[in-house]
Formats: sequence, C-alpha cells, structure tokens
Amino acid sequence: MSSVSLQAPRGTRDILAPDSARLRALTQAFAAESELAGYGQVVSPMFEQIEVFRRVGEETDIVSKEMYHFRDPGDRHLALRPELTASVARAFVQHRPPVPWKVWYEGPQFRYEKPQAGRFRQFNQVGAELFGSDDPQADVEVIALAWRFCVALGLRRVRLVVNSLGDRADREAYLAALAGYFGGRADELSAQGRVTLARNPLRLLDSKRPEDRAVVAGAPPIDEFWSPAAAAHFAAVRAGLDALDIPADRQRLLVRGLDYYRRTAFELVSDALDGAQDAVGGGGRYDGLVADLGGPETAGVGFALGVDRLLLACDAEDVFAAPPAAADVYVVDVTGGAEATLLAEELRRAGLRAERAFGGRSMKAQMKSADRSGARWAVLVGPDELADGAVSLRDMRGTQAAGGTAGQSRHPRAGIVAELVARLAAEKGKTP
Ligand code: AMP
Repeated sequence: MSSVSLQAPRGTRDILAPDSARLRALTQAFAAESELAGYGQVVSPMFEQIEVFRRVGEETDIVSKEMYHFRDPGDRHLALRPELTASVARAFVQHRPPVPWKVWYEGPQFRYEKPQAGRFRQFNQVGAELFGSDDPQADVEVIALAWRFCVALGLRRVRLVVNSLGDRADREAYLAALAGYFGGRADELSAQGRVTLARNPLRLLDSKRPEDRAVVAGAPPIDEFWSPAAAAHFAAVRAGLDALDIPADRQRLLVRGLDYYRRTAFELVSDALDGAQDAVGGGGRYDGLVADLGGPETAGVGFALGVDRLLLACDAEDVFAAPPAAADVYVVDVTGGAEATLLAEELRRAGLRAERAFGGRSMKAQMKSADRSGARWAVLVGPDELADGAVSLRDMRGTQAAGGTAGQSRHPRAGIVAELVARLAAEKGKTP
C-alpha cells in the first residue's frame, strides 16, 4: 500500500457542515428569488459533447485551455461543463420550449485554472437565463433578479457595472479598430498581451497586467461603433434600472469572456473582496448563441454568479451566517442506549431535531455533549426512570448557572414526545 495520503484534487475542496448548510441555504435563497420572477429550474448534465462548448467559445481561454475534456469508453469526446449558459442553450435547441423560456440553475462548473483565493477548479454557480426576447425590459428583469438576490443575502458592498458590446457587426467593426490600435502599439504590450492580441483583441481590455493597462487606457471606446438600435437598447436598459433604483455604473472597458455576447454586458463586483478576484458574477445578452448551436435565431439574456465568491463576500461583510444547527432535544440514556434509539426516533418522526450519544458513555460525558449540541432540552433516561416508565426533562437554558437538578422535571415516558412538541411549538410561536 502506498503511504502517500490521498487528498482532494488541487483546486477542489470538501465543503463540510456548517459551510455545506450555508451553501444550500444560499442556493435555496436563489431558487426562491428566481421562482418569484417565474423562472423554473433546469438541471442539465455536468458533461456535454465537447462541440457544445467549442462552438460557442473556440478562441476563449475557458474553452481552449481550461476545459476538462476526455474520451469516454465509447470514444465520445466529452467535456465537463466550464459554465452553464452553453448547456442551457443546447437544452433549448433540443427541447424547443415555448418562449419566453425562463430558467434558473445551480451546480458545479469545472475550469483548469490556477487555484488561488476565490478561484477553484471546481466551483459552484447559480444563474438564470431568459430565452426568446430581445426586449430591453428582459435585460432589466434579469439584472434585477441578480441584484435582488445580492440584496437578499445582505450584501451592501456589491456594485453593478454595465456596458454594451453592440450588435454583431458593431462588435466586428470594433474588433478591427482595436486590432489596428493595439497592433500599432504592440511593442508596449506584455508578451502575454501580444498573444491575446493575436487571438482576440477584445480580451486585452480586461487584462490586469500593468503594461497592457497603460495601452488599454487609450483604446477607442466602443460607443463610437454602436448601431442606433444597439445604442437605443442600452439606453432603455439603463433607464429601466434607474426606474428600479438599481445603481449601475457604465464601464466602457467591460467585456465578457465568451464570444457570444451582444449588446448588454454586466458584472457584479464586490468592494469587500480582494481586487484580483472581486467579480461575484456577470452576464449579458447573447442573441447569437442559440443559432451558433444549430437552433433558430433566438435572443437571450442571463447571468451566472459565483457561489464561492458570494460566500467570501458575505464573510467579508459579516452577513448571511450559516443557518443554526442546534438540536431541539438531546437524549441522555445511561441504561445502555437502546432507549435513546427509541426515543430519538420518536422525536424525529414528530419533526424534532434530536441527538444522542453512542458507546455507553457516562452521564457527565453525555451531558457535556448535550451542552455542546446547543439543545434546548435534554431528556434523561436512568435506571430509576426506566423502572418507573418515566423520563426526566431538563431545561438546558441556563443549566450552567442553575446547576444540579434545578430546571428538571419528571414526565411519563408515554407523553414526553407530545409534551416536547407542544413546548417547542409554544416557544416558536413566541419568537418573532
Ligand atoms: P464567468 O462565467 O467567468 O463570468 O463567471 C461568473 C462568475 O463565476 C464569476 O464572476 C466568478 O464569481 C465565478 N467564477 C468564475 N470562475 C471561477 C473560479 N475558477 N473559481 C471560483 N469562482 C469562479
């Protein structure tokens, strides 16, 4: 046997309780916000034919360098999804649901990136897409959903930045202008910047390298290339956000990593996070995507939020704590443990959160665990209680101060579950 210890692969993590409960609570909050706005969940495969991603982003790093791809035993070339918009668009083409088709999703994505704080090789996203409308009000609805969700989490230091990439022809004209501009100053770019220039000059706009940034500062703005229709669309989106009091900053250099974006592009940035990894999410309009995947010309707009980053932002702002994990009842059984099994099961069947110890531990040790569990009540079963068909009920609130058997009362074993159900319901009724 090898002595090398096995660990989760680089860039991946195990998420244990209570963090896992927090992750689930965040997903549930997103589900609730999405469903309020009429979005239904779509659950799609974690891997797709590699073509799905190649068709939408051949020249992007995400697809060309960062994809986990493999051949299955049937020699199919597949890839773990690096993002979900392409998968959902593929599902749209396959099922042709009536439009507008409004969906939300959650789940892990996979990218072979350099792991660092807030950047993983397997990470979670939540997101939403709206297919089949080019109405700027659809952009507003989708952005408002992302915004409302961040507000619901309690985040106050998230900013919305918006831009428009124009229509396909505008984008192409802009690309040519950028290629000309950067080409003329190629010797000032970083070595990596020159590689990016050759592949996609648009990507230089969000380069973080200082040499590139100096050149980028003088690049022509996209506004000059917007068609009148694209300019009007962007103006309507901004007016719509204004009307909802959603503050949006125009960022003229904002571009998105995948090539299918048209018109609206947006990002949510947390000022509570470290600069390099401060984007908690982004999205935009992708009117060309469905057609790229072999479907009919279909407009679409959507976004994805990075769950791991959102949770880091929540930590930094000290909001959205893990849901409480305290037990309602702890069963302390010093008669061997079989009674604890029975009683805990009865309590759980009645909907109470019940815990117990294993291994015949002492009264003192079990009481200590009961304390640590945060249980509101302890039910004690000793030889006397067992002989009398009774249990002792201890109020765990303030046991430390009271000590001894204060706050303890005897009850018939047969009625204890109903008694606890009633007491907890009464207490919950009182708390606002
Ligand atoms: P993207 O599809 O690249 O725009 O990603 C949307 C959001 O997912 C980003 O704003 C991040 O919050 C998050 N994200 C992207 N890549 C990673 C990663 N490697 N690790 C963690 N979060 C990520």
